[in-house]
Amino acid sequence: MKSIKISRQHIDRLIQHARAGAPEEVCGILAGTDDEVSEVFEMANTEHSPVSYFMDPKEQFQVMKAIREMGLRMVAIYHSHPASEAFPSAKDVRLAFYDDLAYIIISLMNDEPVVRAFSIKEGRVEELKIVTAWMECP
Ligand SMILES: [Zn+2]
Repeated sequence: MKSIKISRQHIDRLIQHARAGAPEEVCGILAGTDDEVSEVFEMANTEHSPVSYFMDPKEQFQVMKAIREMGLRMVAIYHSHPASEAFPSAKDVRLAFYDDLAYIIISLMNDEPVVRAFSIKEGRVEELKIVTAWMECP
């Protein structure tokens, strides 16, 4: 995966989620096909922390089941950094267990939110290109 496709609407939804949860970090799962996101699942941050997040394994299991039933796959995990830059923390890197997922970080550190995507493999962080486009209205 070198890039990830997310509509502008979905990006805005992630930013809204991050703002609603600040000053705590928020997290969630993005599902879709291949590298294209079509569904956003907001998850609880069980740590209720301004500097880290952890998903409830039970909730995560249910969401992964729902994703499978929709015929989709997990494309990315997102979380917010209310007061730091949009780059994985040492803990984010240590806890990145999925080689084939994108890790999206929403930073609210500056007035203008910053959203960036990364792949994290064996401790190596590489930035992924985010391709955005407005979804066509049917
Ligand atoms: Zn983080």
